[in-house]
Amino acid sequence: MREALAEAAAAGAAPAEQAGHLETADVPVGAVILDPGGAVLARAHNRREADGDPTAHAEIVAIRAAAQAVGGWRLDGHTLVVTLEPCTMCAGAIALARISRLVYGAADPKAGAVGSLWDVLRDRRLPHRTEVVAGVLAEDCGALLRDFFAQRRHSQPVPHRPTPPDDSGRLSCGGVA
Ligand code: ZN
Repeated sequence: MREALAEAAAAGAAPAEQAGHLETADVPVGAVILDPGGAVLARAHNRREADGDPTAHAEIVAIRAAAQAVGGWRLDGHTLVVTLEPCTMCAGAIALARISRLVYGAADPKAGAVGSLWDVLRDRRLPHRTEVVAGVLAEDCGALLRDFFAQRRHSQPVPHRPTPPDDSGRLSCGGVA
């Protein structure tokens, strides 16, 4: 999870932020994929703003890199570690990649699909089951996101924007808030 946190921090440190345009920086979410032996196979962070790609969540970018590394789409036996509870898209991708284990940090009460709003990976109607470990270093993972949104609020005095998450831990995957 420390590696995933380092990746998340890299998202927040995008060039856009350095130039003072924090509103175009990517929400700091990081993901790491471990192979069955526990070695880091892929690491990625949210690149939605950087790539202008609505699907470039950390998990998706990491899954694509891991699949490329193993030379196929099946990631059985692999573990995905991510700092924020996956959304519906990412939970779906985790199931489709046959990833065996998901470890996540902060819960996402606004968009989480692995226990908060939905529980895609443990839905008995689906054939694939992924073991889920939630809340690992949740405090650190959540703090990174809260700091990011707090900083963004301060750099944006524009009044008529969608309300960003408050400081009570209501975080949002991909920064849709
Ligand atoms: Zn996602």
